Amino acid sequence: MPPRTRLTNLYSKINYQGEEQFSTVTIEATAPAPVEVSYPEPTLCQVTVRAALTMYPGPLYVQDGIIREVTLYTAQEQAVFNINLDEAVQAGIACIEGIPYRICLNFTRRPLQDFYQDRVVVIDPGHGGSDPGHRGPVNLLERDMAWKTAGELAKILKGLKARVVMTRRQEENPSWQERLARVPPGAFCFLSVHEYGSPDTTRRGTAVLYNPARPGNKGLAAAVLERIVTRVKTPARGTAADAELVQLGQLPALRIEPVTITNWVDEGLLRNPYFHQKTALATVVAIKQYFCQRS
Ligand SMILES: [Zn+2]
Repeated sequence: MPPRTRLTNLYSKINYQGEEQFSTVTIEATAPAPVEVSYPEPTLCQVTVRAALTMYPGPLYVQDGIIREVTLYTAQEQAVFNINLDEAVQAGIACIEGIPYRICLNFTRRPLQDFYQDRVVVIDPGHGGSDPGHRGPVNLLERDMAWKTAGELAKILKGLKARVVMTRRQEENPSWQERLARVPPGAFCFLSVHEYGSPDTTRRGTAVLYNPARPGNKGLAAAVLERIVTRVKTPARGTAADAELVQLGQLPALRIEPVTITNWVDEGLLRNPYFHQKTALATVVAIKQYFCQRS
């Protein structure tokens, strides 16, 4: 009798098929195994595989705006994966032969694209050029870190077909007034990226400042902050009104400070490219969810 099929790995990522983006959950197995997919609720995809579960018991936190998390357990000789969704989308299934055998569940990211497509998002990387901004204990510069997170924001938003306008080039330091002048009419929102800095090097954490001229911006800032700190596990420093952002009038405008760069733990986070990616994705998802809950 051949050894029983075992499921050995579970992961999720975002990928493209042509022009369309998908959130994919992949289950790896030692051999082909029968799969059943059902939807006990519109936002719950249940995948049952006739195989033994020999992997980390989870849950797998994804939080990419489509997939919230995957929980797994064994019942009656079968492995059950509960894929909790933020959107009522159904999966296409692809099984890929090979070692390992892969069961891929592809969920369209169209709800995010439908929201962002053709919207103009202005991204404002703080400082630049001769202005380094705050400096970390091991010499990372706020200017460069803001540029990195801003680049991830731009990449994600362009992938969702938004029109991205940057207020500066990499080696440039326009004045605040020059940056404002680069905001095109009809822009949907303005996202400034900085890092916080403090003479007290024990201070840590993430903050999101907002434009108080538009009443909804405080709630928007809170939603973005919550999503970021949940994802990257930094302490929350809170939200606050920002005097400069007032000049953006009725525009939803935020100033995101992903870390306190003068703290060595926080500075270390900035060295991980995934930190910038996660922060950017959390921001993009939080903004979409905030506006969709309200409409
Ligand atoms: Zn700054």
